[in-house]
Amino acid sequence: MNFLEERIMKDGIVKEGNVLKVDSFLNHQMDVALIDEIGAEFARRFAGEKITKVLTIEASGIAIAYAAARAFGVPMVFAKKAKSINIDGDMYSAEVESFTHKNKNMVIVSKKFLSAEDSVLIVDDFLANGCALQGLISITEASGATVAGIGIAIEKGFQYGGRSIRNLGYHLESLAIVESMDPETKTIVFRAQ
Ligand code: 5GP
Repeated sequence: MNFLEERIMKDGIVKEGNVLKVDSFLNHQMDVALIDEIGAEFARRFAGEKITKVLTIEASGIAIAYAAARAFGVPMVFAKKAKSINIDGDMYSAEVESFTHKNKNMVIVSKKFLSAEDSVLIVDDFLANGCALQGLISITEASGATVAGIGIAIEKGFQYGGRSIRNLGYHLESLAIVESMDPETKTIVFRAQ
């Protein structure tokens, strides 16, 4: 088991509805040393790629995107949730359905911060059905930038997002892939990588 899988086993809580709670160390209270380690691990896994920017979506992707950007020495940009009436021609936008909140949000990135010269590492804390990633990919490609890679802290391998993103040919690296989890027995099984 790697450092993140060990931490999930220790402090992750399996909830009903295919939700894994990691709010004691990843997305509410944050273990900053662990988050730094996640950033360094992304830098190691994408060392062969040219990265000019790290892109994520607010709110819970921001910390790991910061750590990854720090490790690569490049700027970090996060897609902001916006009311659709606020969207003008200066923004790239995409509609993203939230897995945890079951609502839809427009997310926006200013055209000032992504361009055809950029080679982007997209990161997020979780990958479930892939809706957040599809939005970030579409914003990146609308700007003419290249998606150099996608780094995820925790992929739920029993949901279809990971398969569909890999089938599209993207270089996707997930530090922990949950193969199955059971809220009754509290068991979590990881995919061997
Ligand atoms: P997707 O768009 O891939 O369906 O879901 C990814 C987004 O939903 C992530 O940005 C993450 O914030 C949230 N998410 C999905 N599954 C989980 C989960 O099991 N636990 C938590 N805490 N967040 C999740």
